[in-house]
Amino acid sequence: MTAIEKINQFTRRELTEDEIYVFDVILCNNNIDRDAEYFSENALKQMQKLFIGKTGIFDHDPRSSGQTARIYDTELVHSPEKTKDGRNLLSLKAHAYMIRTDSNADFIKEIDAGIKKEVSVSCYAGKRLCSVCGADKLTSSCSHIAGKYYGKTYCCTVLDDIQDAYEWSFVAVPAQPSAGVVKHFPNRETTPENAELLDLIERETRAEVLALCRNQHQPVSKALSLATEKMDLQELYSLKKALLEQEHSLGQADVQLADFRQR
Ligand SMILES: [Zn+2]
Repeated sequence: MTAIEKINQFTRRELTEDEIYVFDVILCNNNIDRDAEYFSENALKQMQKLFIGKTGIFDHDPRSSGQTARIYDTELVHSPEKTKDGRNLLSLKAHAYMIRTDSNADFIKEIDAGIKKEVSVSCYAGKRLCSVCGADKLTSSCSHIAGKYYGKTYCCTVLDDIQDAYEWSFVAVPAQPSAGVVKHFPNRETTPENAELLDLIERETRAEVLALCRNQHQPVSKALSLATEKMDLQELYSLKKALLEQEHSLGQADVQLADFRQR
């Protein structure tokens, strides 16, 4: 099947090649992200199917409100690069189209110029596995904290069993440089299952933050623990990252000191 034939499966009337603009985006890959999470290969294969036909939005850019694109085909791309922990890098690439209009001409130029490259996806992962012991954090718990080192093993949360893909969006101005994939959790309002999942993630994050707080010196530890009680998920997340970065840099300092002593 040609690209235009695939595209016309999703349209109400037959479109011609002149009417559409076709482009590729990398939706996500199996590399470890800023949140110490990564998609399993199995998850990427599931997303390869789930994202076909899904709409992409550009609502981060007020000028392009109402612009949408649709994925008409996907493929998994193997590359010679490695993930941060040495696995073979596997990316989910999407082929998308949008209907050319006067109002999106500038937007298309920007895509062509490579300006709008950051993509965020939302999907529902049925399993969140600990990379150290394999425990599913949604149904059980373990003592490992994502983002920490256990010996030489970096602990991550492996997102697996993707049950649904909701949407993808272009992030015109990434919140942080090298933003790559930004997974955002669906709104609390959407479904009871999502609300339940969010609560679970919040509880998990709260427990992780409290464990990290205990590593701080008194009375900082106590003050921090108290402060977390009023924090929402976003704030807990930021604190968790800050504490992990601090532990990591302290750990590196220890290593450097040990190296220095050996010399
Ligand atoms: Zn574990």
